Formats: sequence, structure tokens, C-alpha cells
Amino acid sequence: MYRLVQKFGGTSLADLDAIRHAALRVKEAFLDKQQAQADVKGLVVVSAMGDSTDRLVAQTQAYTSNCQQRDYDVVLASGEQVSSGLMALALCQQNIRACAMQGWQVPIYTDGNHSTARITDIPQKNIVAAWRSYDIIVVPGFQGISPDQHITTLGRGGSDTTAVALAAAVQADICDIYTDVDGIYTADPRVVPSARCLDQITYEEMLELASLGARVLHTRCVELAMARSIPVRLRPTTNNNEGTLLQQEGASMEQPAITGIALEDDEAKITLLGVQDRPGVAAQIFTPISEQHISVDMIVQNVSADKKTTDVTFTVAKKDLASCMKVIKDCPITYSALRTDANVAKVSVVGRGMRSHAGIASKLFATLAAHGINIQVISTSEIKISLLIDQSNGKAAVRHIHKAFIEQ
Ligand code: ASP
Ligand code: MG
Repeated sequence: MYRLVQKFGGTSLADLDAIRHAALRVKEAFLDKQQAQADVKGLVVVSAMGDSTDRLVAQTQAYTSNCQQRDYDVVLASGEQVSSGLMALALCQQNIRACAMQGWQVPIYTDGNHSTARITDIPQKNIVAAWRSYDIIVVPGFQGISPDQHITTLGRGGSDTTAVALAAAVQADICDIYTDVDGIYTADPRVVPSARCLDQITYEEMLELASLGARVLHTRCVELAMARSIPVRLRPTTNNNEGTLLQQEGASMEQPAITGIALEDDEAKITLLGVQDRPGVAAQIFTPISEQHISVDMIVQNVSADKKTTDVTFTVAKKDLASCMKVIKDCPITYSALRTDANVAKVSVVGRGMRSHAGIASKLFATLAAHGINIQVISTSEIKISLLIDQSNGKAAVRHIHKAFIEQ
């Protein structure tokens, strides 16, 4: 049996014509597979139409006092209920045996954390039973059911995660995620017009890029695909390009030094000058910050020249800057000056090839130096190097790095 999971994002389902078009894509893929293999069954996961979830969020905001998260989820999950029903109707009109099944009917079990629920289990029994009468089951993304039988939602962008979780539950042969981009690019094509769409990328690289600037896929969806080795293909809805396949690293995969470059400008830099250099100071700074649920990204501490004081620099999301400053001011440590800079950009290069290619960091630094771009903070992981630079240099830096590493 061939099991196909296809997911369509909101922009691919913006209106009734778009849903009809998406239904045609489902039909094409289904018939195509059926020619090669007799027994094909499909699951289609849908997001809410266009920006309807934004509108639902706005409606819930009319009643903020004593608002129950539970009822917020009742409202939010309705967008996908509509699109799943319409998709099933559109498929039936194409003579495909299709029906919609809501999250509670599948059931997609989640924990009870309303609005940020995590999927805990999807038994395949009801899906398999429904496949006896239907070829395609349409399932709303983003929703599930809590242990006490209430509707939950998975957090914005959560439909990608629903698709991969369903693919894992039915051991799908492929999970195709249809979207409004052609696939994963070497850099944002709006910044680098010569950026290439990648044929393939490893989960690990995608995870680094997904949590950086390239917000094409929900991070949790990539984590799940990696944990369960689900082949995920990101493909365009509007043309027949093959898109980008996410998979485990294979022996036949090429190993370029750098696979992709991401740019983020939503972080701010904080520097504490003249902090006492003694055990426990870093914990005194960062513990109260984490207690306020503020995530710290890059951290650098200098060696202390006089063995008494040192400087500590770190970055937080711009939206957290004000609350982070308040925490530091209330913190019982002494320092000589506190500086902040919100005009920074973080450029990150990602590539599994870093493990085998030497000299990537030095070439990267030399590339920026050649264009007079100053590096303020550097951080690295096994397959990623991130550089904090002045915001005004962000796009140019991405273009220079792309030229030096990817277009050579
Ligand atoms: N409709 C939800 C949202 O807009 C979930 C999704 O589209 O993935 O966030
Ligand atoms: Mg999405």
C-alpha cells in the first residue's frame, strides 16, 4: 500500500478557486501514484483559509477579561474545520472518494495546554477504517483533543506539525507540504536574487534554518520528522517543481561547505561592562532573566585583563529588551556601564559540510572584512556559524557570503 500525506497552507487555500486548484493537485498526485501502484490511500491536511486564523484571533480579543484558553481554542480551531469540509467537497466534485474527519474524530490526542498543545498520540485505527470506504481523508491541521475531551490548538503555524505527526502515525511513504514558495532556498531570494532552490536538505540543517530567519516550516514539524525519519517534501502549489526533500543525510548527498544562509533582525544586544570576575556572576545575571521566560541567544564573556572585572555581551529578542533591562537593573551585581543596541542583525551560515571542510570560519570573516563589515559577536555550533553585525550591513553581508560560498 502507498500512503501519501499532503498538506496545504492557508495561502494555498485562500478562496474557493484556490481550494479547487489544491483539490486538483491532490487528485493528480493520487491518480499518478495509482497508475504505478494499485493500492493508494491519502491523507490531506489543511490549514485555515488565507488569513482567517488572524481574523479569529482578533475576534477573541473582543472579550479579554476572564477569557478561558479553552474557548479561545474552540474559536481558533474552527478555521480548519471549514477548510477541511470544503476540501472534502471539492475532492468529491472531482470524483475522488473523500471525506473530512475532525481532530476529535481521528483522534489527534494532545496534552491539555490550550493554544500551545503538543500531540501525544494518533492511533491509526479510525483512519484505516475510514480508508475502507474512502481514498482520501481530509484532516484539519492545528487542532487536537485534550485528555479531558476539549478541543485544543497546537500554536500558530501548527498544521505542518499535524501533517508530519499523521505521516508518522500511518507510516506514510511521503509527506508533501504544499506552500507558496518553491522550496528551501540557499538564501532569501528577495535579498539574494541568485539564490538557488535546494533539491534536498538534511533535517538537522533545516532545523537550524527553521529556527533562524527562514520561517518556512514550523520548527516542531521538522523535529518530529527528524525523530521519526519521515521524508518531507516542501513543494509549490502553483507549479510542478519538485521542491526540496528533507531527509536523513545519505551517502549520495553532496556536501557543500555551506547549505544556506539566514538573516534575522529581531534581536538586540546588551553589554555589561566592568562586571566582577568571580564565580557565580553569570548565574546571577542569567537566572533572573530566564525566570522571566526571556530566551538569551548569543553570549560572550571576555577574559578579564585585570583579573578583577570583565565584560559580558548577550542578545535577546527585541520584544524582550525592555523587560530584560528591568531584570538587570534589579539584579544585585555591580557593573560600570550597561549598553544596549537594537540596530543589529544576525547572519547565520548553516551546513553539514562544516564538519568536513576546514577554514569556513576564516573564509567567512575574510569575506566580511573585504567589504568593511565589522563583526560584533560570533557564536558557533557544529553545523552553524552566527555573526552579529550592524543592522545596516545585514543584507549586504548575506549577498557577499552567498557569492563567496555558494556561487563560486
Ligand atoms: N491556521 C493556523 C495558523 O494560521 C495553523 C496553520 O496554518 O498552520 O497559524
Ligand atoms: Mg504555515
